[in-house]
Amino acid sequence: MTIDFHTHCFPEKIASRALDNLSFVSGGLKYYTDGTVDSLISVSEKQGTDKCVVLNIATNEKQQKNVNNFAAEINKRENIIAFGSIYPKAENAIYEIERIKSLGLKGIKLHPEYQNFFVDDEMMKPIYKKISQLGLILVFHSGFDCAYQMPFHCMPDNLLNALKWLDTPVVAAHWGASGCGEEVIEKLCGKDIYFDTSFGYSHMPKSVAQRIIDKHGTDKILFGTDAPWSTANRERRLLETLELSETELANIYSKNAIKLLGL
Ligand SMILES: [Zn+2]
Repeated sequence: MTIDFHTHCFPEKIASRALDNLSFVSGGLKYYTDGTVDSLISVSEKQGTDKCVVLNIATNEKQQKNVNNFAAEINKRENIIAFGSIYPKAENAIYEIERIKSLGLKGIKLHPEYQNFFVDDEMMKPIYKKISQLGLILVFHSGFDCAYQMPFHCMPDNLLNALKWLDTPVVAAHWGASGCGEEVIEKLCGKDIYFDTSFGYSHMPKSVAQRIIDKHGTDKILFGTDAPWSTANRERRLLETLELSETELANIYSKNAIKLLGL
């Protein structure tokens, strides 16, 4: 069984435009679905993925409502587990967190680059408090992002600070922090935090991935692709070159996610 903990899709009307834009600002990234939920489901099924966690991102205050309504709508699909999003600088961010909970969504995705905030800014304290109170899973985009320049807003040191204000499961995407493998090994491995494996295939040196797993163990690693920007087959290829037992691979591919999501 495979659960992909890191995917994206968009409302039908804007899917192709959204993909084109995001691909362009990221330097011409290749994409593997047409951006819609139907395409995500069919590409994932063909590659042996049973369920996809869809991470939505509100990139401004006004988008929050539509983004979370879209999440609630696709969350009804059998193979989709959709997370909501808030725009941290929005006046009604706390209200929207409560709405995410009442819509039955299990988590929230924050993207500190697209949303322009440092994850350890004092401003985040009440937001983290509310997310923790409601027991929502919090996923951060972490590390570098090919659409942005320095300074990045969720580096391992920022994450360590933010963790002190959080009392809920936290997932740092892209192996803990994209492009920061050595710092992840030094600072984040062994801490109470999940890493997803998304977008590792073309970016993560095998030796760094192995050392992250050796130090962090496999109980808090979640398989993820970053679809449409990668696929399960690509991301499996990296994992399958590592020294992992069948049990450890099963933890990563599905067991940890099943437990975390309460499936
Ligand atoms: Zn992503």
